[in-house]
Amino acid sequence: MALQKRRRGPARTGHQRSAWMRKSGENRPLVQACPNCSGPRIPHRVCMACGFYDGKAVIKVKTADAAE
Ligand SMILES: [Zn+2]
Repeated sequence: MALQKRRRGPARTGHQRSAWMRKSGENRPLVQACPNCSGPRIPHRVCMACGFYDGKAVIKVKTADAAE
């Protein structure tokens, strides 16, 4: 009989579990609207359009009009 060598840690468990949830959830959209710019954004990720996360500008987004 096969016996597992090591215990699976919480990070590894959560990683696989999020994949299951993503696969099983038909009514759970992967992309949601950004609360700042209402553009498409993956939940729990920084918005790539405006660079906002949790109501704050976290990263600077390169735009065509902003000359730096
Ligand atoms: Zn945004």
